[in-house]
Amino acid sequence: MTHEQLLNDEATYIVQTYKRPPFVIERGEGVYVYDTTGKRYTDWVAGIAVNALGYGDQGVIDAINAQLAKGIIHTSNLYHTEPQIKLAKKLVENSFADRVFFTNSGTEANEGAIKFARKVAYNHGHTDKFEMVTFSGAFHGRTMGSVTLTPKDKYQVPFKPLLAGVKVAEFNNIESATQAINDKTCAVFLEPIQGEGGINAATPEFLQALRQLCDQHGALLVFDEVQCGMGRTGTLWAHEQTGVTPDIMTIAKPLGGGLPIGAILVTEAVAQAMQAGDHGSTFAGGAVVLSAALEVLDRVNTPQFLIHVQATGQYLREALEKLDSVHVQHVRGYGLMTAVEFDIDVSAIISKGFDAGLLMVNAGTNIIRFVPPLIIQKEHVDELVEKLQLILETL
Ligand code: PLP
Repeated sequence: MTHEQLLNDEATYIVQTYKRPPFVIERGEGVYVYDTTGKRYTDWVAGIAVNALGYGDQGVIDAINAQLAKGIIHTSNLYHTEPQIKLAKKLVENSFADRVFFTNSGTEANEGAIKFARKVAYNHGHTDKFEMVTFSGAFHGRTMGSVTLTPKDKYQVPFKPLLAGVKVAEFNNIESATQAINDKTCAVFLEPIQGEGGINAATPEFLQALRQLCDQHGALLVFDEVQCGMGRTGTLWAHEQTGVTPDIMTIAKPLGGGLPIGAILVTEAVAQAMQAGDHGSTFAGGAVVLSAALEVLDRVNTPQFLIHVQATGQYLREALEKLDSVHVQHVRGYGLMTAVEFDIDVSAIISKGFDAGLLMVNAGTNIIRFVPPLIIQKEHVDELVEKLQLILETL
């Protein structure tokens, strides 16, 4: 099919919930993707913070092929498979958690966390302890529970009524959190570093206060590390840098090497609340996806790899700070999770980026978010900043 036919058919046959640029991605290698005309783009998006090892990674391909060669793609969760057991053990050995529940995506991990928290309260006989607290700027997903935890009118209003019992407090405001959390709260959800909200980190003091409030009121503290976890910020988990530990952590995006995955990591106390039949999934924890995830976790979770993320992230921010434009307001970030805030709508910059062979993504109207493959190198930073400078000069 020609490029034009593909774009025409997309406009005809696909529900139009995404505004996609007018090219069709065909193949990828390292930090580059190529469209059907052969044009190359350096990828600063990584499939929205997913492709940690970039494109065409031989280790991920080999892990997937080895599992495919066994002829088992799907078994359901009615049976044991080795990749699932191995990955759960590895995640537990490398986190605060005692047990793991696998899902197919980030939003499903958060849906599961909601159910886990409600079940813990229910088991304690607290029928009125069903409230949850979320924060301004949060993004937890698009399904009904997690969208209720995502306080943005555009995502919520057309789909009301939402889940009952969710309160919204102000991010990084201890007073606001104190007012929202009480004995009826079963869980407090937050991203240690907000992604879609514009790369905003919770302060260690705020997280400590939330930990205390949760302990005081018998609520679970849930960290959503779907975007900021798995090495993205230069430590395996973002919250490691704060000294505060949750009761539940949800992860997803990069874990499956690009295949759909999510996981709910829990303490033993939380795990004990869930019995056979309480929650489930046909596809989650599939052998092919988890074989890829074992490879991704092994590769990301080395001191050398994480030091590369920290150093390249630092280099990126220093380079972005040198951009010479009146429109640049603020550069911030952690590891390879970086934002540049502008005083203008960034859609024109992103669109000119496509012309210049750059994939970039916004967070809100005036922020560009840089969440590249974690294997990105300083030379790619130099290319980005050079091209971005030229784009800013055309505005
Ligand atoms: N939580 C966070 C912090 C996210 O950034 C996202 C997706 O962007 C989600 C949850 C939802 O994940 P998914 O799109 O895999 O459902």
